[in-house]
Amino acid sequence: MTKFEDNNVFIYNTLKAKKEEFHPVNSPNVGLYVCGPTVYSNVHLGNCRTFLTFDMVYRYLSHLGYKVRYVRNITDAGHLENDADEGEDKIAKKARIEQLEPMEIVQRYTVDFHNVMKKFNACVPSIEPTATGHILEQIEMIQTILDKGLAYEVNGSVYFDVKKYAETNDYGELSGRKIEELREGSRELDGQSEKRDAIDFALWKKASENHIMRWSSPWSVGFPGWHLECSVMSSKYLGSQFDIHGGGMDLKFPHHECEIAQGQASHGVKPVNYWMHGNMLTLNGKRMSKSTGNTLLPHELFSGENELLDKAYSPMVVRFFMMQAHYRSTLDFSSEALSASEKGFQKLMTALKTLGQLKYKKTEVDPTLNQEIEALCAQCYQFMGDDFNTPRTIATLFDLVGKINAFEKEGEISKIAEETNDLLNSTFSGMVVDVLGLNVEETGNEGLLDETLQMLVNIRQEAKQHKNFALSDKIRDELSAAGVQLKDSRDGTTEYIIN
Ligand SMILES: [Zn+2]
Repeated sequence: MTKFEDNNVFIYNTLKAKKEEFHPVNSPNVGLYVCGPTVYSNVHLGNCRTFLTFDMVYRYLSHLGYKVRYVRNITDAGHLENDADEGEDKIAKKARIEQLEPMEIVQRYTVDFHNVMKKFNACVPSIEPTATGHILEQIEMIQTILDKGLAYEVNGSVYFDVKKYAETNDYGELSGRKIEELREGSRELDGQSEKRDAIDFALWKKASENHIMRWSSPWSVGFPGWHLECSVMSSKYLGSQFDIHGGGMDLKFPHHECEIAQGQASHGVKPVNYWMHGNMLTLNGKRMSKSTGNTLLPHELFSGENELLDKAYSPMVVRFFMMQAHYRSTLDFSSEALSASEKGFQKLMTALKTLGQLKYKKTEVDPTLNQEIEALCAQCYQFMGDDFNTPRTIATLFDLVGKINAFEKEGEISKIAEETNDLLNSTFSGMVVDVLGLNVEETGNEGLLDETLQMLVNIRQEAKQHKNFALSDKIRDELSAAGVQLKDSRDGTTEYIIN
């Protein structure tokens, strides 16, 4: 029997403002959509926290035996400055400043994002669609909304008619915002707008002369509104009504509220059953901000090259640090907090290694010990099922670390039943490796790997100098088979690239 039948999952559904038992539309299949990055700059740590949260959600549901289709998009068009309906496209602006093609900007930062996610040992989504790859589908959805009478065209741009929609739907149900308050708040800013109502939002914008990212449509040469891509790509790959939609808290309004309105307007059903929102990451007690210098990029963290840090931290320590907080709580980043996490992480990974090495010996069972271990294993699943409570799960894993260390002193696992030993092994490694996504290989050994590779490069260099080409080729070929490519340059130096 698959584990999900024995382990209930309760999810805090932002739409209902309470925890609800998870029932997928089409079990054992689960549809999970996460708003991905807008690729116009290096991904920052706050975004990483959101993506690692949903990586953990994906991992746990998969661990329980659900077949999860995990869609996370790449926003490569349509996201304007200040998340607004007017202004310059974030990617086009960066392209103008750096004198590059917008797609060069997209490529550069998509690669950076993927590299960072790989370092954090995040799973690759099942589908990673892009906004520019779905322009036709976006035009189709706009036409559907126009046909239903819930949008209107002005001067080649198309806007969603929020007032009309709100006559029969609850606009603001996710964010708790009221239409009147929204109108009050936006009136002054939008005084010159061509919208009928300040609360309306763009589905299609006619491109101004200097707007370089543009496509043909029935209304004008222009570009889609930012909110539309997620409605289009989630419904295309997960259906018009799917299970879980995730993102950072800052996306609740307007982005997700608009997604609900677009989905409901075009398909006649609420698009998402469970809305999940991750909380913010702060740095030394303050909001991260580029302008005040209170900011930290992932690569600065891994290299230690930032004055806010006392040393470098491995991606796995950072991942563990993030998992030690519940995803709905704010989390404050500081050197002291990371340092404490590093110790905890090492203790956990040492216990994992010990558990793998200890042999089981069948002896008389100590019923108290046996029952304690069974209960702790069950607790891990209860906590994970309680809105993915990773901090309490980790605390329980540390209780198990105590038991594992006691076994280590004995030199073997004994006094528990064989099934309990199996349960201990599968739960401990399942939670640490599969669910929390923590990886032994990356525990600060990167320097060691570099040294070892450099040593092999040097030996090969010497072999070449002594015309021992058999040896130099052997080193190159075997490294290549192991996934390390050597690149000789004209000046006689050799670089290595780890695939
Ligand atoms: Zn989105």
